[in-house]
Order: sequence, then structure tokens, then C-alpha cells
Amino acid sequence: MSRSSTERHAVAAKLAKKKSAETQSAALQHDAVWQDSDWRRALRRRLQNWYSRNARDLPWRREPTLYRVWVSEIMCQQTQVATVIPYFERFLDAFPDIASLAAAEEQTLLSLWEGLGYYRRARSMHAAAKKIMEQHGGEFPESFEEVIDLPGVGRYTAGAILSISRQAKLPILEGNTQRVFSRWVALRGAAPVEPSANRLLWEIAETLLPRKRPGDFNQASMELGALVCTPKQPACDICPVRGLCAAQERGLTAEIPGKLSKIKYEDRTEFALVIAQSIGDEDRQFLVRQIPAGGRWEGLWDFPRLTEDALGSADQAADQLSRELGVSVSAGSRLAVLKHSVTRYRISLQVHEATLGNPSDPPAKPWKYCSLTEIEQLPMSVTGRQIAKMLGS
Ligand code: SF4
Repeated sequence: MSRSSTERHAVAAKLAKKKSAETQSAALQHDAVWQDSDWRRALRRRLQNWYSRNARDLPWRREPTLYRVWVSEIMCQQTQVATVIPYFERFLDAFPDIASLAAAEEQTLLSLWEGLGYYRRARSMHAAAKKIMEQHGGEFPESFEEVIDLPGVGRYTAGAILSISRQAKLPILEGNTQRVFSRWVALRGAAPVEPSANRLLWEIAETLLPRKRPGDFNQASMELGALVCTPKQPACDICPVRGLCAAQERGLTAEIPGKLSKIKYEDRTEFALVIAQSIGDEDRQFLVRQIPAGGRWEGLWDFPRLTEDALGSADQAADQLSRELGVSVSAGSRLAVLKHSVTRYRISLQVHEATLGNPSDPPAKPWKYCSLTEIEQLPMSVTGRQIAKMLGS
């Protein structure tokens, strides 16, 4: 008897599922050395010996309280350690504990963060500090569930805070460990951030953790990635785990970790308009505003900046600003072109002088005129700060 069409579909679906599972496991080809307990023991011993002699003396390592480790972990996201150190020290001087951070003015917080980028991190920390005051009596929580429930904290950060500060047995996976673990097991054919590879690497991270001082193991793995097993030209000849590392054994360190296809950058032109007024003999003042909620660089201050892609000239930008302010604006000569990147956009920021049709009728809030001395005290966008410096020179 021939099979019904429903049966045929069911068989075809089963075969397709099997094929997809096979394709997935082929894509995740790796050496399963991490499942061997002798290998894990040898690797931990060598790595931790190396770390005890080579760990960098970083301010948050000297006194790894939950609060200090949290601040350092948030600051180190997307940012080099050397850049973070002075920011960390200034931040801890200004906000030595959760209570002082929760009570801070957002402007003060953003000023201290200026130049570190990714300002959402600072706002999330502020919100988290307030939540800790309200829901945990001002004490940083110590359970994974409560820590991951804080704004701005994900699985990696929660694991890092609790393992580094409290030696909790929690795995971590971030840029350095993604690369290091991928090389230890010679993960081939997938970038570590791809979902199936990421799941495998978390499982490896968890399996590798020792019972004793797992936080030190986590830090040692990250430190190896930062100092020895670097993205380009890892220093295998001085690596403490040389001989245990599958990528090095197979001569695959240049191909591992696999890469995602390259981001396609888009060129884009934007305009900033510098509108000045002089009052008597006093210094010139410039029109600025705090960027509203939802805007790029929310909470920071900036000169009038027109980000619509469709604007092809400074005159069009001035017309657009006129509609926003409700007063006529005329664009003048170009002062500078500032190049910078935001996400996938390569931006050419054309900075022009501009004048208001009726200077005696100042634009309404949130716009206001500030002198350069006042602007110095405001948390500014990076390009806003560049414009202010240019005007003061
Ligand atoms: S042997 Fe080379 S590739 Fe392997 S962990 Fe060490 S530095 Fe990295």
C-alpha cells in the first residue's frame, strides 16, 4: 500500500530535521578535550599558576567588593582596561558606595562618564543603584537571580560580579573567553557569537570551572585572552597551556575564532549648526540643548544637530531646524568637518555657523544659550565637545 501524503510529509520533515542537526554539528566541529577530566585538571593547574604570577594589578582587584567589581565590569564592557582605570578611580571617589550613586544627579554621573561612550551603561547603573536602595536595603544582592534582575546586567556580568567578588561557581563568557575557549577546543566553522556555538561555549565555560576559587579561574581565562591569547598573533610560545590547546596543536590559531561576515558600513552626512549670541561685553554664548529621551546620546548636551539622512545641504539643515525652533534660521559658512562612526554609520559631520532671523526671540526650552565656560561643565556628546573646543581655540 502506498504511503499517504501526510505520512510522506512527516518522513520528509523528519529527514530535513536530521539533516539540519547533522549540518549544525558539522558546523560545530571541535575537539571534545574539555570532556576529559585529566585535561581539565592539567589546564586549570597551569592556568592558575600562570595567573598567580602574571595577573595585572588593577584597582578593582585590590579590593574586590561586589560594588567595585560591578562598576569595573560595566565600565570594561566595550572599553579597554587602560582607558577604564582613571574613569574607575574618579567614579569611586565621587560615588564610593551604592547610596551615593543612587542619590547622584544624572548630569553629574554623565559628566564623569563623558568620553567613555555607551552612555546607556551609566544610566542603567544609576537605575540599578536606585533599585538596590529600594528593594535590597542598599546592600548589593548576592544571589544570581537578584543580580541578573538589575538593569544593565546580563548573564556574563552577573556571573563575573559574583564569581570574582564571592568566588561563586558561575561561568562567564565574554570577548576574551569566547576566543580562548574556542581555541582550546579548536572550534571550527562557526563564530563564537552564533547561537549554537555560543551555547556550546557556555557549556564548556561551566564544565571547566574548578570547585576551588572559580572566580580566579574566570579571571585567569580572561587575563590569558587579554595578555597572551590575543586576537591576532597569539603568543603561543610563552602560553602556559601550550600543548593542551587544540588550535595550537592543529596550527589553526589564525582561523579560530571564526568570524561573522563583515559589517557593511554606510557613509552618511549630518549637520551641526553653531548659533552664537553676544550679550554686551560678555563672552559669546551658544545655543545648546539636552538631548531628549530616545535620542542618540540621550541625556547629554549638544549643539543643534540634524541627523536626517535626507538633508543634502546646510540650508536644508537650517530649514529643518527652523521648523523645530519655530524661528527662522540661516546657515552661514562652514567651520569644520568632523569624521566619526556611530554603529554602522561612517558620519561626516558638517559644522556650520548659523544665525536666527530674530535674535531677540530666544528659542524655548530645552534650548538655552550657554557660554563656553558653562558648556565645559555640561556632559557633552564627543562631537559636541570637539565643537566647543574648536570655538574656544
Ligand atoms: S596556545 Fe596559543 S592559541 Fe592556544 S591558548 Fe595559548 S596563546 Fe592561545
